[in-house]
Amino acid sequence: MQGTVGWTQVGGARFAKDEVHYRLVPQEKMIRCPCCHSPRVVKLGSERRTIQGLPVGRKYVFLEVEAPMVQCLNCGSVGPIDLGFAEPGKGYTKSFAKDAIRLVQETSIAFAAQMLKVSCHTIIGILQSRLAKNKK
Ligand SMILES: [Zn+2]
Repeated sequence: MQGTVGWTQVGGARFAKDEVHYRLVPQEKMIRCPCCHSPRVVKLGSERRTIQGLPVGRKYVFLEVEAPMVQCLNCGSVGPIDLGFAEPGKGYTKSFAKDAIRLVQETSIAFAAQMLKVSCHTIIGILQSRLAKNKK
């Protein structure tokens, strides 16, 4: 679902008004160091994050994920695992960001924000991280 390779949905979808929420937990192969990708890590608890995905039909999609914090026995890094489908610290999926950029190119920031049910601020943030990435 929505590029969430390596994650398993638990329970059914939860519907609320015009939203649908899915709970996801990482498969064992995802529990790796966010820095060196070593599987030799110790779990230090987990962080619940809500990540907005692409709308499906008229429903806005939210992925509620349990992202384990890990300490790496290889390089010593401590942090949440790499989700794969979303950039660290972002509240939306990579495909959501891609779609937002496409919408802005075809319409406007305000329209993209309205379509995706986020603030203009979020859309601008997506455009800025895209620019920062292109510079690298
Ligand atoms: Zn490491």
